[in-house]
Amino acid sequence: MPELRQNFFSKEWVIIATERAKRPEDLVAKRAVEPVPAFVESCAFCPGNEDKATHEIMRLPENPSEAWSVRVVPNKFAALSSELQPTRSLQHLRRRIEGFGFHEVIVDGPDHSRSMALLTDANVADVLRVYQERYNSLSMDARVNHITIFKNHGADAGASQQHPHSQLIATPVIPSQVRQRLFEALRHYDDVGECMFCHMVEREIEDQTRIVLKSEHFVVMEVFASATPFATYIFPLRHMASFGDIGTREVTDLARVLRTFLAKLYVGLGNPALNYTIRSAPADYSAARHFHWYVSVIPRLTRAAGFELGSGMFINTVLPETAAEFLRNVAVDKAVGTSGGA
Ligand SMILES: [Zn+2]
Ligand SMILES: [Zn+2]
Repeated sequence: MPELRQNFFSKEWVIIATERAKRPEDLVAKRAVEPVPAFVESCAFCPGNEDKATHEIMRLPENPSEAWSVRVVPNKFAALSSELQPTRSLQHLRRRIEGFGFHEVIVDGPDHSRSMALLTDANVADVLRVYQERYNSLSMDARVNHITIFKNHGADAGASQQHPHSQLIATPVIPSQVRQRLFEALRHYDDVGECMFCHMVEREIEDQTRIVLKSEHFVVMEVFASATPFATYIFPLRHMASFGDIGTREVTDLARVLRTFLAKLYVGLGNPALNYTIRSAPADYSAARHFHWYVSVIPRLTRAAGFELGSGMFINTVLPETAAEFLRNVAVDKAVGTSGGA
């Protein structure tokens, strides 16, 4: 039977259409996989081409005489400019802000062919350390109201550069989607006196059916009211509103968990295009008891059509419980990567 499910904090409804149910195997990418070279002469992110990118904001290791493992540069085609000031204006109903903001590219590693699923846990931990450093550094800027860290992997997920990379956009406003979620979380906190995310995580761990994997500090779960197949949350078990507050051991643990999960998608679903986003409280809410940061991973296995665009309501043909069971059973420790990551 089809079923409607509501997301616990976005309040969005989705239709889980079991009548049209697809087996996860049916979604495996059937395109020809072309081998990706480790180095591309014309790629601005490949080692040796550093002068093709704009100046360097940060790198690891910091010593410039050592080869870099992670590098941050300004986006050459930045959506926003840090040269402007966030000056506001209002004319009748037309509100504007000058296009102030930061748009940075984090190059995940020197190897053009190694997407995050194929990196070592230590490499991924370096990437996360860089995320945290940039997040905390830009959070200090009083003109910045919200920071989104995200990854587009694959052309179907909007990646215009093949070289594995992540991005960060700092905006002078809080996006309304984030604002609405903050309100819902605050409403729950005022009504019930607890963080709704802590509560949800506890229940899901008890329930087990949507859990993909759990570590000392994190849990990976399929979303109960998943709008698209395999939509996944990664939650820290400790209450923290801001990603900027992640601890050293938690970074190491998240690296292993994130890499393992991405490897399961890579092996199980044939390297699908995907986006992930770190959803963190805006800087002014970093100590909030009502909000809890998390990573949202969305494999791009289907396309939104007229009903989705017109109603904002999605039809999902894969049961989240089926997706979770499928991913639990994908073994990755030996199948992915050649340089460690065990
Ligand atoms: Zn490259
Ligand atoms: Zn919490």
